[in-house]
Formats: sequence, structure tokens, C-alpha cells
Amino acid sequence: MDKKFREFKKQLNRIYTNNKIYHKKMQEKHLMPNDITDWNDIKKLPLTTKEDLLKDYPNGWNCVDEEKIKIYHASSGTTGKPLIVGLTEKDILLREDTIITNAMFAGITKNDIVQICYGFGMFTGGFSFYDGLKKLGCKIIPTGTLSTQMQLFYMKKLNPTVLITSPSHAMHLYEKARQLEIDIKKIPLRIIRVGSELLTETMRKKIKKAWGERVSVTQDYGMTETLGPGLGMECQHENGMHLNDSYYFELIDPITKKPTTSNVGELVVTTIYNECFGLIRYKTNDLVEISTEKCSCGKESPRIIKFIGRTDDMLKVKGVKVFVSQIEDFLFTYPYFSHQYEIVLSNENYKDILTINIETKEEVIAEVNNNKKLVEQEFKNKFGITSEINILESNTLSTKLGKVKRVKDLRGVKI
Ligand SMILES: [Zn+2]
Repeated sequence: MDKKFREFKKQLNRIYTNNKIYHKKMQEKHLMPNDITDWNDIKKLPLTTKEDLLKDYPNGWNCVDEEKIKIYHASSGTTGKPLIVGLTEKDILLREDTIITNAMFAGITKNDIVQICYGFGMFTGGFSFYDGLKKLGCKIIPTGTLSTQMQLFYMKKLNPTVLITSPSHAMHLYEKARQLEIDIKKIPLRIIRVGSELLTETMRKKIKKAWGERVSVTQDYGMTETLGPGLGMECQHENGMHLNDSYYFELIDPITKKPTTSNVGELVVTTIYNECFGLIRYKTNDLVEISTEKCSCGKESPRIIKFIGRTDDMLKVKGVKVFVSQIEDFLFTYPYFSHQYEIVLSNENYKDILTINIETKEEVIAEVNNNKKLVEQEFKNKFGITSEINILESNTLSTKLGKVKRVKDLRGVKI
């Protein structure tokens, strides 16, 4: 029996004993921890869904007494009440070590000056990086969610070598710097580590073009449920996120929920070491493509090479299924569009209407408007859906930090 499996068995026993919700789910399948004797048996265990985690709110999922919890974090709660996750001392140490590994994958060293633009609130991003990078020995500029202008002020004065933020915020900082005529070439930035939102290859190219080809742009992947960033970590070769070996991953068919042998499917994660908030076969809702080919960095761990979309980011328009990430990829092939866009779904006479509002630079707006019909036609050719594309001036759409709401579905809204 390998060491990782032994640790998993300890975790399963603890969850079975302390977590009433998962205990009941196992009982319903007539399963005891001892029925699981190797990795192959894990398929017998019930899947965990986000809805399960919200039962007996807020402490129902915890495996430890409340006295052992040292800090609480929470998901953004954009689709209902926020999911609250408690961390014990052991979880905090685990998270610090995960961030150190994550930083090393990105190429960050103790000599770096790191500006963290994630919120220092209930969101895990800010504190995760703060704790981990402090332990690594970096110098930290915790600008958190300060205004873009103030973020740039500290960048200019304190010369960060690493920026940690979301892809859209990296672009927003660049555009604001351009407006304020700040010479960003003077900032000795060498790494932009993004997370919190999906980084498409077209967005990576946009960020590199903006900040300079010398800057490495890589991403990580994680979630509040698994203690924050570090489930997937891209190395400097920029070719997908290595899966963290401190977790166990499976792929399932998103429709049948059965394990799949394909390299494309919904990612399911099992925690091995987490103490308070252990997860067995957690459905992440993320549809991914995995590569098991050796990475150019020499590591053989499987990598997420593509995010196909979130099962809850899948839009059904006029009966056609389309992912927000596919629409984004399409929009970003036009160099004159900015990274700021929103997709609005509405309904007229029982017919779905898809509208895309997207920004462009003021100086080219007339010219871009001339191409509007062509873009709409190409959209129709690609997705088989008619769309209305509205071209707006810069700074028309809201640019809040954190997770940007890309879709407004007004179809169920009664006016
Ligand atoms: Zn690699």
C-alpha cells in the first residue's frame, strides 16, 4: 500500500467518524471505510457536491471541534450563500507549504518583491499568498483591493518583481498605466502569476504584449474548499498546470457522473491531508483536458492543459450549448477588442436573445463599428447562434476586482 493511499485511508476514517453528512452518504451506499482497499475502490465512494457542503450551515462539514479552528475563509457566494471553510493550525501549515511549492513553480524566489492584488478579506487569495510567501522569505507589498491608481502608485515607488492578480486586473492595471502615462518598462516586473479567473491562451498573449515579452505569465488553480490556490500550478514553461500530488484527482463524465477514461471530463478532487474540511470525490464543476505527457520542465505529473468551461458556465442559448470561455476566445481573436466584455441573455416573444457588450479604445470606435456586422456573422458561423454585438468605449463596463461577472442572464427575470 503506497504512502499516499495510507494517508487517504486515515482521512477517510476521520471523515466517516466526524462528518455526519458524508457518513450518511456512505451508509446509503452500504459502505464502510474498510471496503476501500486500493485507489480503484475509490470509485465506489459517493461524490460530494457543493450542495452537500452547505448542509448544516455553517459548520456541518467540519471534521474538528470549533475550538481547533484558527481562521475562517469563504467563497464569494455569487450563486447563493457563501461557503464558509475553517482552517486548523495544521491546515494553515499545509496551505503555507502549498503556496511555497506554487511560488517555486512560478519561478518566485525569496529575493523577489511581490505585490499581492488579491483581497485580504474572507477570500482565500490574499492571506494564502501572504502567509506562504512570508515563509518563503519574499518582500511583500499587500496592496489587496486598493484602487488601480493606488496600486500603480505603489508599483512605481516600490518596484515589485512579481505581480499576483487576476488576468483581467493585470490588463486593467496596464490600461490605467497607459492612460496615466506611466512608463511601465521602468517597473522591474519579471513574473505575473494569475489566478481566480480562467486564463485563455489569447488572454496570456494579450498580457504579455501589454507588460512585455520578458514577463512570464503563468497561472494557478484552486478553490476555497481546498484551502485556496495550489490544486494546479503552472511552471515557467507556460504549458498547463501541474496537478498537486497532495490531492487525488479523477475525471468523470459531466452528464453520467461516471468515471471516464477520456482525458477530457469534469475534475473530481479528494483531499489527503486537510484536517478541518476534508473532501472525498468533490465535484469541482470544472471541465478540463488533462495531458499525461512529460512537461518540458522534466516533471511527469499530469497537467491541466485546457479549461473547457465550468458546468455552471455553460450557456444554453436557443438550444445550443456554448461555454463562456469559448465566447471569450472568439472575442479575443479580434485585436481591437479590449478584455472587458459582458454577455447578456434576454428573452423576447419566448425567443432567446444573446447580446455581447464589449469595449474598445475611443480612437478606433468608429472603425470597429464598421466591422460589427462581420464579427456577428463570424460568431454565427462559429456557434450557430445569432448575436447582437455592442461596441462600447473604454471604462463603460464595471471593473470590480476579484471574480468578474461575465454573464447576465435576464431570461428568468420578470420586469
Ligand atoms: Zn512543467
